[in-house]
Amino acid sequence: MNDTPDHTIFTTVVHAGSIPRDSTGSLTTPIYRTSVFGFDDLDTAAAVHDGREPGYFYGRLGNPTQTAMEQAIAQLEGAESAFATASGMAAIAYALLAILETGDEIVAQPMLYTTTRHLFDEFLADHGITVRYAPSHDAADIVSTFTDATKVVYIETPSNPTLDVVDLAAVAAAARSRRIVAVADNTFATPFNQNPLALGFDVVCHSATKYIGGHGDLMAGVLAGSAEIVHRARWKVNTLLGAVISPDSAWLVLRGLKTLAVRMERHNASALDIAHWLTRQPGVNAVNYPGLPTHPGHDIASNQMRGFGGMVSFSMQDAQAAAQVVNSVRLCTLGVSLGDVATLIQVSSAMSQASLTSAAATEGLPPVPPGLIRLSVGLESVEDIKQDLSDALQV
Ligand code: PLP
Repeated sequence: MNDTPDHTIFTTVVHAGSIPRDSTGSLTTPIYRTSVFGFDDLDTAAAVHDGREPGYFYGRLGNPTQTAMEQAIAQLEGAESAFATASGMAAIAYALLAILETGDEIVAQPMLYTTTRHLFDEFLADHGITVRYAPSHDAADIVSTFTDATKVVYIETPSNPTLDVVDLAAVAAAARSRRIVAVADNTFATPFNQNPLALGFDVVCHSATKYIGGHGDLMAGVLAGSAEIVHRARWKVNTLLGAVISPDSAWLVLRGLKTLAVRMERHNASALDIAHWLTRQPGVNAVNYPGLPTHPGHDIASNQMRGFGGMVSFSMQDAQAAAQVVNSVRLCTLGVSLGDVATLIQVSSAMSQASLTSAAATEGLPPVPPGLIRLSVGLESVEDIKQDLSDALQV
């Protein structure tokens, strides 16, 4: 993250997004729960509406609590600007719609969050935007998939749910030399562990529903990058589509952010411990975690990440064995999502890859092993989590 020389991220997350104290002296940023902002005269209203004067006009177009959250994320990601949305999917869609036009092409890695794949393969494809998937997560393979029509390269590292790692600096350098806009989903890593913009990326997207909010009590997204792209997302895309964050969610994000650093330090340490431990458990065939020296992307992750994150996935023999484990846990919660204080466990092939849109859409997806279990390691005692998994593995 974009630390000032004498402030580490542990200090910055506590103060980022604070607005100047008002007459009450309130230490936390207030929730501006309003849809309308009033004016004393028409000239001022028109000037604010046209952007000739600063100010707020209407809830869909911005709110001071939202601005505070956007400034905090921009600071943490080292971005010129940020825009907060109603969900992570809205942030991804807004970033791409701000950059792409019909006839353009995206190049992406093969394994992405499934709904992002559906956004690409169905929604964007229906709007005349082509997506080409690289044959692997190797930067050389991704770069050799570029064509003259490529306008965006889209990366998610570590990827959901297989924890593949992509070399961000290598992809960014090649993209820049061809004037391709590089967009990264940084949800799994968080700004605590990784800053794609510092490695040459142009835009970073987050599902703030996950670690940034951190408590499983909100839906939110954010995109951050150059003032120009964020301006287009805000005014060109959001004004018309309107999936803006609510002031209440923006406030919850601000509250969650204050503990991001201490939470991530603990998520990182517990996930590393559990990943090593899982490699020794009977019935576990493979463990995916970038912090394991055996992970194919370990060296790259060690260079570009400050910690390896709280997400681990591991393979059981088959779907039945995986079902047995997730049906037997008692402390871990069987459920989707991630980045919560509580440990979450899921079988990705059954719970995330199954298409919500069409059966045909799932056919083109890279296969997720049916026995793959994804674990979002929470903040409970790591020994308690291991005991719960150990009991479930022995059923
Ligand atoms: N990106 C990744 C990596 C995700 O895992 C998710 C959701 O699981 C999203 C984006 C979408 O976020 P949201 O559910 O907030 O729309």
